[in-house]
Amino acid sequence: PVIVVGSFNVDHVWRCNELPATGATIAGQYMTGPGGKGFNQAVACARAGAPTTFICALGDDPGGALARELAESDGIDLRAEASSEPTGTAGIYVDARGRNSIVIGAGANGVLSAGHVTADRALAGEAGVLLAQLESPVEAIEAALQMAREAGTTTLLNPAPANAPTSMGLLRLADVLTPNETEFAAQLSRHVGERIEPDAVAALDGARLHALCRKLLPHGTVVVTMGSVGVFVSHAEEEPRGDGQPYYRIGAESVTASDTTGAGDAFNGALAASLARAPGQPFATHVRYANRFAALSTERAGAAASMPRHDEVLARFPG
Ligand code: ADP
Repeated sequence: PVIVVGSFNVDHVWRCNELPATGATIAGQYMTGPGGKGFNQAVACARAGAPTTFICALGDDPGGALARELAESDGIDLRAEASSEPTGTAGIYVDARGRNSIVIGAGANGVLSAGHVTADRALAGEAGVLLAQLESPVEAIEAALQMAREAGTTTLLNPAPANAPTSMGLLRLADVLTPNETEFAAQLSRHVGERIEPDAVAALDGARLHALCRKLLPHGTVVVTMGSVGVFVSHAEEEPRGDGQPYYRIGAESVTASDTTGAGDAFNGALAASLARAPGQPFATHVRYANRFAALSTERAGAAASMPRHDEVLARFPG
Protein backbone atom coordinates (compact mmCIF):
# COMPACT_ATOMS: atom_id res chain seq x y z
CA PRO A 1 0.00 0.00 0.00
CA VAL A 2 0.91 3.67 -0.43
CA ILE A 3 0.23 6.57 1.94
CA VAL A 4 -0.14 9.95 0.24
CA VAL A 5 -0.03 13.00 2.53
CA GLY A 6 -1.07 16.37 1.15
CA SER A 7 -3.57 18.87 -0.15
CA PHE A 8 -7.06 18.77 -1.61
CA ASN A 9 -8.43 21.80 -3.46
CA VAL A 10 -11.59 22.60 -5.31
CA ASP A 11 -10.27 24.14 -8.54
CA HIS A 12 -12.33 26.94 -10.11
CA VAL A 13 -11.10 27.50 -13.65
CA TRP A 14 -12.02 30.34 -16.02
CA ARG A 15 -10.88 30.17 -19.65
CA CYS A 16 -10.64 33.68 -21.08
CA ASN A 17 -9.08 35.33 -24.14
CA GLU A 18 -6.71 37.45 -22.05
CA LEU A 19 -5.82 37.27 -18.36
CA PRO A 20 -7.77 40.04 -16.57
CA ALA A 21 -5.81 43.25 -16.03
CA THR A 22 -5.94 45.09 -12.68
CA GLY A 23 -9.40 46.59 -12.23
CA ALA A 24 -10.87 44.81 -15.26
CA THR A 25 -14.03 42.71 -15.35
CA ILE A 26 -14.09 40.20 -18.19
CA ALA A 27 -16.06 37.15 -19.30
CA GLY A 28 -14.73 33.60 -19.20
CA GLN A 29 -15.88 30.03 -19.56
CA TYR A 30 -16.14 28.39 -16.12
CA MET A 31 -15.30 24.85 -15.05
CA THR A 32 -14.81 23.34 -11.63
CA GLY A 33 -13.25 20.10 -10.47
CA PRO A 34 -11.00 18.51 -7.85
CA GLY A 35 -7.33 19.40 -7.56
CA GLY A 36 -4.53 19.88 -5.05
CA LYS A 37 -1.20 18.13 -5.54
CA GLY A 38 -1.88 15.63 -2.77
CA PHE A 39 -5.24 14.52 -4.10
CA ASN A 40 -4.05 14.41 -7.73
CA GLN A 41 -1.18 12.16 -6.71
CA ALA A 42 -3.45 9.95 -4.60
CA VAL A 43 -5.81 9.47 -7.56
CA ALA A 44 -2.87 8.67 -9.87
CA CYS A 45 -1.54 6.17 -7.34
CA ALA A 46 -4.91 4.44 -6.90
CA ARG A 47 -5.54 4.28 -10.67
CA ALA A 48 -2.02 2.91 -11.16
CA GLY A 49 -3.28 0.01 -9.07
CA ALA A 50 -1.92 0.52 -5.55
CA PRO A 51 -4.15 0.38 -2.46
CA THR A 52 -3.94 4.06 -1.45
CA THR A 53 -4.54 5.96 1.77
CA PHE A 54 -4.82 9.75 1.46
CA ILE A 55 -4.17 11.85 4.58
CA CYS A 56 -5.36 15.48 4.36
CA ALA A 57 -7.45 18.18 6.05
CA LEU A 58 -10.94 19.18 4.89
CA GLY A 59 -13.52 21.77 5.86
CA ASP A 60 -17.11 21.00 6.80
CA ASP A 61 -18.49 22.27 3.49
CA PRO A 62 -19.40 21.11 -0.05
CA GLY A 63 -15.70 20.97 -1.02
CA GLY A 64 -15.03 18.53 1.81
CA ALA A 65 -18.03 16.44 0.77
CA LEU A 66 -16.72 16.40 -2.83
CA ALA A 67 -13.35 15.09 -1.64
CA ARG A 68 -15.03 12.26 0.28
CA GLU A 69 -17.23 11.32 -2.65
CA LEU A 70 -14.37 11.32 -5.19
CA ALA A 71 -12.03 9.41 -2.90
CA GLU A 72 -14.68 6.75 -2.50
CA SER A 73 -15.26 6.47 -6.24
CA ASP A 74 -11.53 5.81 -6.78
CA GLY A 75 -11.32 3.38 -3.86
CA ILE A 76 -9.06 5.70 -1.84
CA ASP A 77 -8.97 5.26 1.94
CA LEU A 78 -9.45 8.89 3.04
CA ARG A 79 -8.16 9.98 6.46
CA ALA A 80 -9.27 13.61 6.73
CA GLU A 81 -8.58 15.89 9.66
CA ALA A 82 -11.75 17.92 10.30
CA SER A 83 -10.98 21.62 10.12
CA SER A 84 -13.04 24.73 10.93
CA GLU A 85 -11.28 26.38 7.95
CA PRO A 86 -12.90 26.08 4.51
CA THR A 87 -11.72 23.28 2.22
CA GLY A 88 -8.79 24.40 0.04
CA THR A 89 -9.61 26.25 -3.17
CA ALA A 90 -7.77 27.43 -6.26
CA GLY A 91 -8.92 30.21 -8.61
CA ILE A 92 -7.32 29.66 -12.00
CA TYR A 93 -7.49 31.94 -15.07
CA VAL A 94 -6.23 30.43 -18.32
CA ASP A 95 -5.83 32.56 -21.46
CA ALA A 96 -6.20 31.52 -25.10
CA ARG A 97 -2.49 30.72 -25.27
CA GLY A 98 -2.64 28.41 -22.25
CA ARG A 99 -0.88 30.83 -19.87
CA ASN A 100 -2.37 31.03 -16.39
CA SER A 101 -2.68 33.08 -13.21
CA ILE A 102 -3.53 31.18 -10.03
CA VAL A 103 -4.62 32.12 -6.52
CA ILE A 104 -4.69 29.36 -3.89
CA GLY A 105 -6.70 29.61 -0.70
CA ALA A 106 -4.99 26.98 1.43
CA GLY A 107 -7.85 26.89 3.95
CA ALA A 108 -7.91 23.53 5.71
CA ASN A 109 -4.72 22.40 3.91
CA GLY A 110 -2.87 25.13 5.78
CA VAL A 111 -3.70 23.64 9.18
CA LEU A 112 -3.04 19.93 8.53
CA SER A 113 -1.34 18.88 11.77
CA ALA A 114 1.65 16.70 12.57
CA GLY A 115 -0.56 14.89 15.11
CA HIS A 116 -3.09 13.90 12.47
CA VAL A 117 -0.59 12.65 9.89
CA THR A 118 1.19 10.49 12.47
CA ALA A 119 -1.99 9.20 14.16
CA ASP A 120 -1.72 5.71 12.64
CA ARG A 121 1.86 4.50 13.02
CA ALA A 122 0.82 0.90 12.36
CA LEU A 123 -0.35 1.94 8.90
CA ALA A 124 3.05 3.52 8.19
CA GLY A 125 4.65 0.17 8.99
CA GLU A 126 2.36 -1.73 6.62
CA ALA A 127 2.76 0.73 3.76
CA GLY A 128 5.59 0.16 1.31
CA VAL A 129 5.80 3.81 0.31
CA LEU A 130 4.86 7.23 1.70
CA LEU A 131 4.53 10.10 -0.79
CA ALA A 132 4.31 13.79 0.18
CA GLN A 133 4.46 17.26 -1.41
CA LEU A 134 4.75 20.77 0.05
CA GLU A 135 1.26 22.27 -0.24
CA SER A 136 0.77 21.49 3.48
CA PRO A 137 2.51 22.80 6.62
CA VAL A 138 6.16 21.79 6.56
CA GLU A 139 5.96 20.47 10.17
CA ALA A 140 3.25 17.99 9.15
CA ILE A 141 5.21 16.82 6.08
CA GLU A 142 8.39 16.46 8.12
CA ALA A 143 6.54 14.43 10.78
CA ALA A 144 5.05 12.13 8.12
CA LEU A 145 8.42 11.48 6.46
CA GLN A 146 10.08 10.91 9.84
CA MET A 147 7.37 8.42 10.82
CA ALA A 148 7.79 6.52 7.54
CA ARG A 149 11.55 6.44 7.89
CA GLU A 150 11.28 5.04 11.42
CA ALA A 151 8.89 2.37 10.11
CA GLY A 152 11.29 1.38 7.32
CA THR A 153 8.87 2.64 4.66
CA THR A 154 10.29 4.16 1.45
CA THR A 155 9.80 7.93 1.38
CA LEU A 156 9.09 9.99 -1.77
CA LEU A 157 9.11 13.78 -1.57
CA ASN A 158 7.87 15.91 -4.46
CA PRO A 159 9.27 19.35 -3.45
CA ALA A 160 6.39 21.28 -5.03
CA PRO A 161 5.53 24.12 -5.25
CA ALA A 162 9.01 25.57 -5.79
CA ASN A 163 8.46 28.49 -3.39
CA ALA A 164 7.49 26.29 -0.40
CA PRO A 165 9.90 26.49 2.53
CA THR A 166 12.42 23.64 2.71
CA SER A 167 15.53 22.77 4.69
CA MET A 168 18.34 20.32 3.98
CA GLY A 169 17.00 18.35 6.96
CA LEU A 170 13.61 17.99 5.28
CA LEU A 171 15.06 16.99 1.90
CA ARG A 172 17.22 14.34 3.55
CA LEU A 173 14.16 12.59 4.91
CA ALA A 174 13.46 11.58 1.30
CA ASP A 175 14.68 8.31 -0.16
CA VAL A 176 13.50 9.62 -3.51
CA LEU A 177 13.26 13.36 -4.33
CA THR A 178 11.24 14.30 -7.45
CA PRO A 179 11.58 17.97 -8.43
CA ASN A 180 10.62 19.35 -11.85
CA GLU A 181 13.15 21.72 -13.46
CA THR A 182 11.83 24.81 -11.64
CA GLU A 183 11.80 23.07 -8.26
CA PHE A 184 15.26 21.59 -8.89
CA ALA A 185 16.68 25.05 -9.70
CA ALA A 186 14.98 26.52 -6.60
CA GLN A 187 16.42 23.88 -4.26
CA LEU A 188 19.91 24.18 -5.79
CA SER A 189 19.87 27.93 -5.35
CA ARG A 190 18.62 27.68 -1.77
CA HIS A 191 20.72 24.81 -0.44
CA VAL A 192 23.70 24.27 -2.75
CA GLY A 193 24.47 27.87 -3.74
CA GLU A 194 24.17 27.06 -7.47
CA ARG A 195 22.18 29.43 -9.68
CA ILE A 196 20.87 27.66 -12.76
CA GLU A 197 17.93 28.82 -14.89
CA PRO A 198 15.11 26.23 -14.95
CA ASP A 199 15.22 26.36 -18.78
CA ALA A 200 18.89 25.40 -18.74
CA VAL A 201 18.52 22.28 -16.58
CA ALA A 202 17.59 19.79 -19.32
CA ALA A 203 20.58 20.77 -21.47
CA LEU A 204 23.16 20.22 -18.68
CA ASP A 205 25.70 17.47 -19.15
CA GLY A 206 24.74 14.23 -17.35
CA ALA A 207 27.84 14.12 -15.13
CA ARG A 208 27.21 17.72 -14.04
CA LEU A 209 23.52 17.05 -13.31
CA HIS A 210 24.49 13.96 -11.35
CA ALA A 211 27.00 15.96 -9.26
CA LEU A 212 24.35 18.60 -8.49
CA CYS A 213 21.81 15.93 -7.48
CA ARG A 214 24.39 14.33 -5.17
CA LYS A 215 24.92 17.67 -3.40
CA LEU A 216 21.19 18.13 -2.92
CA LEU A 217 20.54 14.60 -1.64
CA PRO A 218 23.75 12.76 -0.74
CA HIS A 219 22.05 9.50 0.29
CA GLY A 220 19.10 8.94 -2.00
CA THR A 221 17.74 9.04 -5.52
CA VAL A 222 16.88 12.28 -7.32
CA VAL A 223 14.46 12.12 -10.24
CA VAL A 224 14.28 15.43 -12.13
CA THR A 225 11.17 15.55 -14.33
CA MET A 226 11.66 17.61 -17.49
CA GLY A 227 8.26 17.83 -19.15
CA SER A 228 8.30 16.78 -22.81
CA VAL A 229 12.04 15.97 -22.55
CA GLY A 230 11.48 13.15 -20.05
CA VAL A 231 13.41 12.53 -16.82
CA PHE A 232 16.91 12.45 -15.37
CA VAL A 233 17.71 9.94 -12.60
CA SER A 234 20.66 10.15 -10.18
CA HIS A 235 21.40 7.45 -7.60
CA ALA A 236 23.64 7.65 -4.53
CA GLU A 237 26.85 5.63 -4.77
CA GLU A 238 25.86 3.10 -2.10
CA GLU A 239 22.38 2.43 -3.46
CA PRO A 240 21.30 -0.99 -4.69
CA ARG A 241 20.28 -0.23 -8.27
CA GLY A 242 19.58 -3.60 -9.84
CA ASP A 243 21.07 -3.36 -13.31
CA GLY A 244 21.08 0.45 -13.48
CA GLN A 245 23.80 3.05 -13.95
CA PRO A 246 24.55 5.73 -11.32
CA TYR A 247 22.74 8.21 -13.56
CA TYR A 248 20.69 8.07 -16.75
CA ARG A 249 18.03 9.83 -18.78
CA ILE A 250 14.74 8.36 -19.95
CA GLY A 251 13.09 10.18 -22.86
CA ALA A 252 9.44 11.23 -22.73
CA GLU A 253 6.95 9.00 -24.53
CA SER A 254 5.59 10.41 -27.73
CA VAL A 255 1.96 11.41 -27.18
CA THR A 256 -0.38 14.14 -28.41
CA ALA A 257 -0.25 16.32 -25.29
CA SER A 258 -3.28 18.59 -24.95
CA ASP A 259 -3.16 19.53 -21.24
CA THR A 260 -0.02 18.98 -19.18
CA THR A 261 -1.67 20.20 -15.93
CA GLY A 262 -1.00 17.53 -13.32
CA ALA A 263 1.63 15.68 -15.38
CA GLY A 264 4.04 15.88 -12.45
CA ASP A 265 1.32 14.63 -10.10
CA ALA A 266 0.61 11.72 -12.45
CA PHE A 267 4.32 10.89 -12.51
CA ASN A 268 4.68 10.95 -8.71
CA GLY A 269 1.55 8.90 -7.99
CA ALA A 270 2.49 6.27 -10.57
CA LEU A 271 6.09 6.07 -9.36
CA ALA A 272 4.91 5.47 -5.79
CA ALA A 273 2.42 2.81 -6.92
CA SER A 274 5.03 0.99 -8.99
CA LEU A 275 7.60 1.03 -6.18
CA ALA A 276 5.00 -0.37 -3.77
CA ARG A 277 3.89 -3.08 -6.21
CA ALA A 278 7.34 -4.48 -7.05
CA PRO A 279 9.98 -3.08 -4.71
CA GLY A 280 12.57 -5.59 -5.92
CA GLN A 281 12.58 -4.40 -9.53
CA PRO A 282 15.30 -2.11 -10.89
CA PHE A 283 14.49 1.54 -10.21
CA ALA A 284 14.54 2.36 -13.94
CA THR A 285 11.56 0.03 -14.43
CA HIS A 286 9.49 2.15 -12.05
CA VAL A 287 10.60 5.39 -13.72
CA ARG A 288 9.70 4.03 -17.14
CA TYR A 289 6.22 3.14 -15.89
CA ALA A 290 5.69 6.58 -14.31
CA ASN A 291 6.94 8.24 -17.52
CA ARG A 292 4.33 6.32 -19.53
CA PHE A 293 1.54 6.97 -17.04
CA ALA A 294 2.31 10.72 -16.96
CA ALA A 295 2.53 10.94 -20.76
CA LEU A 296 -0.93 9.40 -21.10
CA SER A 297 -2.34 11.86 -18.53
CA THR A 298 -1.37 14.79 -20.81
CA GLU A 299 -3.73 13.59 -23.55
CA ARG A 300 -6.75 14.46 -21.39
CA ALA A 301 -7.93 17.69 -19.78
CA GLY A 302 -7.98 18.25 -16.05
CA ALA A 303 -5.73 17.30 -13.14
CA ALA A 304 -7.15 14.46 -11.02
CA ALA A 305 -9.75 13.69 -13.70
CA SER A 306 -7.06 13.16 -16.38
CA MET A 307 -5.31 10.28 -14.62
CA PRO A 308 -5.31 7.10 -16.72
CA ARG A 309 -5.67 3.56 -15.32
CA HIS A 310 -3.03 0.85 -15.06
CA ASP A 311 -4.58 -1.32 -17.80
CA GLU A 312 -4.80 1.67 -20.18
CA VAL A 313 -1.08 2.33 -19.67
CA LEU A 314 -0.23 -1.31 -20.40
CA ALA A 315 -2.49 -1.36 -23.47
CA ARG A 316 -1.00 1.85 -24.89
CA PHE A 317 2.64 0.97 -24.16
CA PRO A 318 3.02 -2.79 -24.40
CA GLY A 319 6.30 -4.42 -23.38
P1 ADP B 1 5.19 19.29 -13.71
O1 ADP B 1 3.81 18.95 -14.15
O2 ADP B 1 5.41 19.14 -12.24
O3 ADP B 1 5.72 20.58 -14.25
P2 ADP B 1 6.74 17.96 -15.75
O4 ADP B 1 6.26 19.00 -16.70
O5 ADP B 1 8.20 17.78 -15.58
O6 ADP B 1 6.11 18.13 -14.32
O7 ADP B 1 6.10 16.58 -16.23
C1 ADP B 1 6.24 15.40 -15.45
C2 ADP B 1 6.39 14.20 -16.36
O8 ADP B 1 5.23 14.07 -17.19
C3 ADP B 1 7.55 14.28 -17.35
O9 ADP B 1 8.77 13.91 -16.75
C4 ADP B 1 7.08 13.27 -18.38
O10 ADP B 1 7.25 11.95 -17.90
C5 ADP B 1 5.58 13.56 -18.46
N1 ADP B 1 5.28 14.59 -19.47
C6 ADP B 1 5.04 15.91 -19.27
N2 ADP B 1 4.81 16.56 -20.43
C7 ADP B 1 4.88 15.62 -21.41
C8 ADP B 1 4.74 15.63 -22.84
N3 ADP B 1 4.47 16.76 -23.51
N4 ADP B 1 4.89 14.45 -23.50
C9 ADP B 1 5.17 13.30 -22.85
N5 ADP B 1 5.32 13.23 -21.51
C10 ADP B 1 5.18 14.36 -20.78
